[in-house]
Amino acid sequence: MADKRDYYEVLGVAKNATADEIKKAYRKKAIQYHPDRNPGDKDAEEKFKEAAEAYDVLSDADKRARYDQFGHSMGPQGFGGGGSYGGFGGFGAGGFSMEDIFAQFGDIFGGRFGGGGFSGATGGRPRQHVNKGTDLRITVKVTLKDIMNGVDKKLKIPKLVADPACKGTGAKDGTAFGTCPRCHGSGYISTVQQTIMGPMESHSVCPECNGEGKIITEQCPHCHGEGVEKKEEIVSFHIPAGVENDMVLTIRGQGNAPRHGGVNGDLLIVIQEEKDADLIREGNDLIYNLMLDFPTAALGGNAEVPTIEGKARLKIAAGTQPGKVLRLRGKGLPKMNSNAKGDLLVNVMVYVPEQLSDAEKAAIESLKDAPNVVPTQSTSQRIFSRLRHIFNKENRGE
Ligand SMILES: [Zn+2]
Ligand SMILES: [Zn+2]
Repeated sequence: MADKRDYYEVLGVAKNATADEIKKAYRKKAIQYHPDRNPGDKDAEEKFKEAAEAYDVLSDADKRARYDQFGHSMGPQGFGGGGSYGGFGGFGAGGFSMEDIFAQFGDIFGGRFGGGGFSGATGGRPRQHVNKGTDLRITVKVTLKDIMNGVDKKLKIPKLVADPACKGTGAKDGTAFGTCPRCHGSGYISTVQQTIMGPMESHSVCPECNGEGKIITEQCPHCHGEGVEKKEEIVSFHIPAGVENDMVLTIRGQGNAPRHGGVNGDLLIVIQEEKDADLIREGNDLIYNLMLDFPTAALGGNAEVPTIEGKARLKIAAGTQPGKVLRLRGKGLPKMNSNAKGDLLVNVMVYVPEQLSDAEKAAIESLKDAPNVVPTQSTSQRIFSRLRHIFNKENRGE
């Protein structure tokens, strides 16, 4: 893994290349090293795969940002970390197979190579049928702290995996196949219909072999011909900072394996945000309701407010009114794929005592008619006009 070439170098593009430039560069490489042009050339095949891997990462804004930041070696979650990091399409152990490449990027070749498949041996027949496993959907709970920093998760997921005994084919030892008698191995059948315009030929997927062109002559005894078995697998993935509730992250190739071999389905991760005991999320901002005691609000002082990264101390000015919003810049949540951060908004309330001792009652009684304690009409108007979110004439449009 240490000798992996830089993806930008592989495609021969600059670090700041546009998506279009990357696509063009990949297309060029893919055509140059295409197996149809280089039959039996192992070196070309490696280059072909290397370009596909580079393109897979650089064509995806999310993966590209991560690659720019961390390069190939991203610790245990690395691009090449033994295939454990699903977010990069199941690279790593074994890398991409040729079938994967055609299934994922086949359309980049346009009509040039017979619709994307291996055209050399098959002429102009319809595109090679590729089996794809079903997608898996799981819900993952994240805390505000996870959303703040991003989080690596490792989960045990029950899924269908290819049976190693038959390499996922369902045929005994992975070899007990015969050519489909119905379509003679093409995977397609042609039917000719008489129409007003004359005879019309149409192609459809062979129902006998489901387009595979071959049938199993002896079933794999281990999986009874299914090619898959149910197994719990540990899947590791990264949840980026700034995700939101109900967002779905797709991890390619980590879903179910299909019957009889092919490309795995995807793993869909539904984000479920856990409620925080203190902080309320509003977009990228966080809100905290601070209950101040009356003496601190009147005399000024300090207050402690929780943030995701521990407590913050706030200075309270003398004469702070309930309804005032104090803004702690940058103490909110990060925006996904950006350096921007929201704020923490501290919504000040002032506690009015609910139960009082006789001495406390007497102390408050003594303030009742004090000139600075009782608001005048102009004091009230001045304060109301500063608190935009409470009812006043301006807000009601009168
Ligand atoms: Zn057939
Ligand atoms: Zn089997």
